Amino acid sequence: MTQVERQAWDVVVIGAGGAGLRAAIEAREQGMRCAVICKSLFGKAHTVMAEGGIAASMGNVNERDNWQVHFRDTMRGGKFLNHWRMAELHAQEAPDRVWELETWGALFDRTPEGKISQRNFGGHEYPRLAHVGDRTGLELIRTLQQKIVSLQQEDKAATGDYESRLKVFQECTVTRIVKDGDRVAGVFGYERESGRFFALEAPAVVLATGGIGKSFKVTSNSWEYTGDGHALALLAGAPLINMEFVQFHPTGMVWPPSVKGILVTESVRGDGGVLRNSEGKRFMFDYIPDVFKEKYAQSEGEADRWYEDPDNNRRPPELLPRDEVARAINAEVKAGRGSPHGGVFLDVSTRMPAEVIKRRLPSMHHQFKELADVDITAEPMEVGPTCHYVMGGVDVDPDTAAATGVPGLFAAGEVAGGMHGSNRLGGNSLSDLLVFGRRAGLHAARYAQETAASGTRPVPDETQLDLAAAEALRPFSAEAGEPDESAGPAGPPENPYTLHQELQQSMNDLVGIIRKAGEMEEALHRLASLRVRARRAGVEGHRQFNPGWHLAIDLRNMLLVSECVARAALERTESRGGHTRDDCPEMDREWRRLNLVCRLSDPSGGLAAPDTGHGQIRLERREMPPIRPDLLNLFEKDELVKYLTDEELTQ
Ligand code: FAD
Repeated sequence: MTQVERQAWDVVVIGAGGAGLRAAIEAREQGMRCAVICKSLFGKAHTVMAEGGIAASMGNVNERDNWQVHFRDTMRGGKFLNHWRMAELHAQEAPDRVWELETWGALFDRTPEGKISQRNFGGHEYPRLAHVGDRTGLELIRTLQQKIVSLQQEDKAATGDYESRLKVFQECTVTRIVKDGDRVAGVFGYERESGRFFALEAPAVVLATGGIGKSFKVTSNSWEYTGDGHALALLAGAPLINMEFVQFHPTGMVWPPSVKGILVTESVRGDGGVLRNSEGKRFMFDYIPDVFKEKYAQSEGEADRWYEDPDNNRRPPELLPRDEVARAINAEVKAGRGSPHGGVFLDVSTRMPAEVIKRRLPSMHHQFKELADVDITAEPMEVGPTCHYVMGGVDVDPDTAAATGVPGLFAAGEVAGGMHGSNRLGGNSLSDLLVFGRRAGLHAARYAQETAASGTRPVPDETQLDLAAAEALRPFSAEAGEPDESAGPAGPPENPYTLHQELQQSMNDLVGIIRKAGEMEEALHRLASLRVRARRAGVEGHRQFNPGWHLAIDLRNMLLVSECVARAALERTESRGGHTRDDCPEMDREWRRLNLVCRLSDPSGGLAAPDTGHGQIRLERREMPPIRPDLLNLFEKDELVKYLTDEELTQ
């Protein structure tokens, strides 16, 4: 039996980004003892990288803004595949969450009248993103961290111990949710530095682990984004939805190769930046789809006037939702009108004085100067699409953030599905983290209280912990596999880095921004082979800080989520939002009614049965819940006919 250190908590939150910290604060404020676990150092989560801002209809810059307009924009951006209740709660509660941040010490940029400033972003009808220059995520995390420290100080005064009610376990990775029967009973993981195993027992676990971008070769995402929470949910028996929808942000750096994929914030376009091809043409005017025709300017003159007079002009097409802009850039490059390094040009240098650029976009100025030796105040940037965000995630109850089918499991932030439908609007993630992070913490705390009151606290059995430890240790004893049809002949242990590279290349080439049935079938074939080879992923050395070992463990998760993406993308025979098919280019109203649900085929969660290499994911089609009539009434009928079926419209 492997030695596993065990502790007992009321609520365990996996993830210390915006969603995880907001959940932990809420659970602690409800009187629960809460543990937060994160892979990196406290304060280093992916949320720190968020640049542009937090979307909330505070109406500070245009008083016509309100939650109904925000709701409409969010549904349009997601092409009506969003869970309407999540979009409603999000639009209604986002302003309160931003004001709350301010009371906790966040220092937002101000309007001349001293209100929180709000900037334009793609798909948002009015200036809506509260921001701190282009470093908003850093301020968000700093503020939540500060709130946690202040709660810990209160706990020290009350109990003599800072960490008695709220403790952060940093540089620790969770590899399994453990259960007692159907119910969650805690988590199993390892300390990255020492390699020691631990189990935190708790009746309620909140997943707040972020996204999946590291399964793709070109991505804006950090090393932490290996889809762990998505995989943990599947392995615990919870389904995922919308996994075919992966957002390719239109503007990532394309040069030099070492920084390919790093994000160029949408604020550049929000603040006046324009996209041009190699012929100097502002090409986005050629790519305004019918569904958005009435809302976007048809000429450069009108587009430019909009910045000064938004009430009497329509917005520039550079501010279309991200999926539209990414596809347009892709098409221009394919047509041979790209920039020297395979992107297009994004220019602010001819649109704003240098000092304004440096004040409003300080990180972008610094990023291009340092990484590409480009001065964005004097010359255009070269940009192209980069894998940025996953709309798909854990299927949750909109009000409580409870995961479907697994009592005690909750999910919030990028790991949860439903909120953004087929495409997320910029700025809607940071607000999502705060709105649903708070709800997840609240309901996890209530669930833990009820469990305590009923005297039925779940307890994980030793066998599960032993199996989880054996699974984590397998890379140290990887042996040459038996000859296998899909894995090829037996051979020495596989190098996890090679497997990772092959996975990223396959996902980029075959399930990327533009998809085709044959290529996705090929992707599934390669994934099956990689999965079998990954069982032989071997590492040398010991458990003390061993990155090869960490990657070998993470591969299981990336392969699982990649299979979900590929299977769901192959099944959905239409194009919508972050899912574009060359062979099915139209949006189909019948498909709007359907969610694709991914479940693990093996009910034992893969601990008992060996992987046969024939796929681990089972797909189901599920009808979307009908949109509440008062919310439908917020749209013109002319618009609804583009999305809803005749039958839905009659109802
Ligand atoms: P994260 O902040 O990523 O936190 C995940 C946490 O989970 C981390 O602490 C990680 O260590 C932990 N974790 C993961 N797996 C495990 C495991 N197995 N065990 C233990 N811990 C684990 N959105 C906006 O709304 N506005 C913006 O301006 C914006 N700008 C962006 C700019 C960039 C460059 C990028 C990449 C994204 C941007 N986004 C923006 C998107 C947004 O930042 C993310 O969607 C959001 O921060 C995700 O937050 P989260 O709390 O869900 O996860």
